[in-house]
Amino acid sequence: MKVFDTQYLIIGAGLAGSILSFLLRRSGSEVILAELLDAKTKDKLCGGVMIDSALQSFKKIYGENPQQVLPLHKLKSFCQRFAGKEILANNTEIFTLPRKSLDNFALERALEVGTRLFDRVALKSVDMNNFLAYFLDLRDKTQFAIRFQFIIGADGASSKLRTLLMGKRPIIIPTLQIQTPCVSDELIFAYLPEIFSSQVDWGYCWYIPQGKIAVVGCVGSSFSKQKNLVQICRNNLKNFCSELGIEQNISIRGAAIPIDKILLSCNENAFFIGDAAGLNDTVTGGGIHYAFISANLLFEALIGAENIRLTYEKKIFNAIQLKTTQQARKSQFLTSLAILKKGSEI
Ligand SMILES: Cc1cc2nc3c(=O)[nH]c(=O)nc-3n(C[C@H](O)[C@H](O)[C@H](O)COP(=O)(O)OP(=O)(O)OC[C@H]3O[C@@H](n4cnc5c(N)ncnc54)[C@H](O)[C@@H]3O)c2cc1C
Repeated sequence: MKVFDTQYLIIGAGLAGSILSFLLRRSGSEVILAELLDAKTKDKLCGGVMIDSALQSFKKIYGENPQQVLPLHKLKSFCQRFAGKEILANNTEIFTLPRKSLDNFALERALEVGTRLFDRVALKSVDMNNFLAYFLDLRDKTQFAIRFQFIIGADGASSKLRTLLMGKRPIIIPTLQIQTPCVSDELIFAYLPEIFSSQVDWGYCWYIPQGKIAVVGCVGSSFSKQKNLVQICRNNLKNFCSELGIEQNISIRGAAIPIDKILLSCNENAFFIGDAAGLNDTVTGGGIHYAFISANLLFEALIGAENIRLTYEKKIFNAIQLKTTQQARKSQFLTSLAILKKGSEI
């Protein structure tokens, strides 16, 4: 079996993986980026909302102005609704973009600095005693191994690396989304009526304009593990589309959002970033900024710290506590829900 060698093996060429590859490679390290799908054609399901901290991190990491190099779309307004009624309007400046443009940018930068990309490869097993990861090449069905010094899980909400190293699958919730021509320039969050019948504990539909196109989606979560959660979301998505006058015969895609506890490292040689670490806002589902923050902070720990694990974990928890904008949004979201539950409106 062919065996490749590298200092850093990053599993998942999504946003977090591509950012970390770029940072490590630029600092002179050997990096292999292993991706399950076709790296150029894969298209992550996402609302494409980029909050301030993500834009700032982008600027810091790439030294480029996101407004100049990304197809950012400034929204006219942002509103939250219940049953068609507006409950809270928000004047914050919000930018969106088609997610593929951001992922393409990050991957291109990683490749430009010399990251070795192995795409369409499936991770089969990991031997942490001998620092070997075994893969199946999905193109020619051959098997190969990569010897590493450090392995990093950036393989998203359903992280295979996490399952292999921890022995159990991460906890995720399903989301549904469609793409449609833009019908309005206003971002809308519409809470699920099922919150009141306790069929879901939280959940909402979204309409997010990204320029010429918009995405419409739905997410719902239930602590009692409702079996019909996906069906509830599907129905709500359809109702929301008809409320907005959007064609409904568009194919619906599904994706996962992580909701379990944060896991940042398994041992001194295995770390997790982005969704694979469970780093996603449990209220809003936003995770782009976490992908930036975690990739950057792990990079800083990997190249500079004596105790990488402790440093990385400390840095992340400090960063999360300092995220005031994020916390302000969260409390606004929860206030809206509380208002809804009382049955009143602003
Ligand atoms: C429907 C939806 C809408 C969202 N909207 C927003 C939003 O508007 N704003 C926001 O901030 N966040 C949003 N998020 C969350 C955000 O998309 C994620 O938090 C973010 O993509 C996390 O980046 P990541 O690099 O960790 O994971 P990902 O972007 O998921 O990348 C993981 C990569 O790993 C690859 N992979 C998976 N399994 C394997 C494997 N076994 N081996 C190798 N590679 C593998 C995948 O193909 C992918 O390329 C949304 C999420 C969903 C599902």
